[in-house]
Amino acid sequence: MFNRRKFIQLSAVGASLTALSKSAVAKTLISPPASTPPIVISTWDFGIPANKEAWKVLEKGGRALDAVEAGVRVPEADMNNHTVGRAGYPDRDGHVTLDACIMDEFGNCGSVAAIENIAHPISVARLVMEKTPHVMLVGDGARQFALEHGFKREKLLTAESEKAWKEWLKTAKYSPVMNIENKQHAPGNKYNHDTIGMLAIDAKGNISGACTTSGMAFKLHGRVGDSPIIGAGLYVDNEVGGATSTGVGEEVIRNVGSFLVVELMRQGLSPEDACKEAVNRIIKKKPETAKNIQVGFLAINKKGEYGAYAIQQGFSFAVCNADKQDLLIKGKSFY
Ligand code: ASP
Repeated sequence: MFNRRKFIQLSAVGASLTALSKSAVAKTLISPPASTPPIVISTWDFGIPANKEAWKVLEKGGRALDAVEAGVRVPEADMNNHTVGRAGYPDRDGHVTLDACIMDEFGNCGSVAAIENIAHPISVARLVMEKTPHVMLVGDGARQFALEHGFKREKLLTAESEKAWKEWLKTAKYSPVMNIENKQHAPGNKYNHDTIGMLAIDAKGNISGACTTSGMAFKLHGRVGDSPIIGAGLYVDNEVGGATSTGVGEEVIRNVGSFLVVELMRQGLSPEDACKEAVNRIIKKKPETAKNIQVGFLAINKKGEYGAYAIQQGFSFAVCNADKQDLLIKGKSFY
């Protein structure tokens, strides 16, 4: 029987359902896309094949840490990729020096910088994390550590990279200036697709990240960018989310960019808004410099919401989860 008491109860339920659906609608409108883990995202179009490799780990219930390592090894091995890994362009003196770092859900991290003759710096970074009491090894010491752990010593300078370097030498007068003087190799343009930064959440909801690069083409020998620096090129906090960056590393380091993005997400900003604020910081500090450089941030929060923001147009990121396997998203930008 439909009595008044029951009617009030039903009305209350109805009202709260209405309120709920209204707030759900509002949330849908204001929130960035959310995804049920597992999910993997990474910078640039070469993130698509990298994500696919990471996805093989994630779909089997594997750990995000294993996924990001496996994922970024794809561009590291790609002989056509001149900004990440073994076929990366050399520095001003003709040395191919690689930078990488990795971070897991426990806050463990490992990094190598300016390592030579080793094709997969990300795996060396992981070993630094797991086999040493240190976070970072650089240069000869990093190579020595890698060789001691069974990595193969290889000549990394490919014929194609050597040719590009020699071309650059003809006009650059041996003086790299953020390598934007040579438009063909300007950070962020289609020939210089920069770093792969990858973030993954596994089926257990744990987050890890990896970042690997050959750095700026024709940099000064010994120059290290943001990519192997925890907090600059990559940061993960399993309670909040993760962030990574690409572009001119000096500006990212100055602003401790990826740490900043994660802290902004902790304060409640969406991943995209956090990335935007980090980009704005860079622009505010050096507005003239910012006009001619690219920096892009990519972030994911604990809920699987993701977003990105860059200084210049042209930044893109790849997403892979159970629904979408080959998604490439155009990042929003200040200019
Ligand atoms: N962020 C890297 C660096 O500065 C390279 C890049 O993404 O352009 O070394």
